[in-house]
Amino acid sequence: MPELPEVETIRRRLSPVVEGATIVGAEIVDPRLTRPFDPGVVGAALVGERIAVLERRGKYLLWRLASGRTLVVHLRMTGSLRHAPHGELSEDAHRRATLELDTGTDLAYRDVRRFGTWELLDADHLRPYLGARLGPEPLAPSFSAARLGRLLTGRTAPVKAFVLDQRRIAGVGNIYADEALWRARIHPRRPAGGLDPNEVARLHRALRAALRRGIALQGSTLTDYVTPDGEAGGMQHEFHVYGRLGEPCDRCGTPIERIVVAGRGTWLCPRCQRL
Ligand SMILES: [Zn+2]
Repeated sequence: MPELPEVETIRRRLSPVVEGATIVGAEIVDPRLTRPFDPGVVGAALVGERIAVLERRGKYLLWRLASGRTLVVHLRMTGSLRHAPHGELSEDAHRRATLELDTGTDLAYRDVRRFGTWELLDADHLRPYLGARLGPEPLAPSFSAARLGRLLTGRTAPVKAFVLDQRRIAGVGNIYADEALWRARIHPRRPAGGLDPNEVARLHRALRAALRRGIALQGSTLTDYVTPDGEAGGMQHEFHVYGRLGEPCDRCGTPIERIVVAGRGTWLCPRCQRL
């Protein structure tokens, strides 16, 4: 599933392609993408819109349109975007939508599992929509260790569940949560509010380092994720714990273990990350 580094990679690759372009055609073929709204109505509303800026918030791609509206795209499990010169997108049974731009570029939205969403929001609705769903951006300058500490205070949930909760911290999913907790040498089942100041500082550093490394390597490709240019990411070659059951810890050589925390498969080093 695309997490912050994958969505940020998509944003960085797509912004020079789409910013300033006007949508001259929109075909949304999967009604699940826009429900409860009719895909034909949403598509028609997009035609004629100029894409002002492509932004990201958490795992959401925000297509800020010149009219003040925003197309809010969430890729969920298997959504991805591709661009190609007009008419040159290859046939694809999993394509759910196509946007044609006045610059001669076509954009395709592909989604095998079909959990992705496209929502067209008015300016008045964007802030409350995101505010209800997302905590702070972990890579923002304002996201300090002190702020993380205040968010953790009083939380009894396992720290991994806390990190995965988009309303607490935006953009972190299963891969980067496990990688960050390994970097911080914190057991995923530790109560979030029970970390001491040193551990909070380590977790803060580790979260940012894991996410930044993911962005530097263009994200991690396990099954569906590719960049909008069709390239695989490289982060999967650098995982310290995720998916590495039985392999030696990069720090101490102890075999990596797998447990379940917050309903999610969770990989850790039992020696570096003590309960
Ligand atoms: Zn270890």
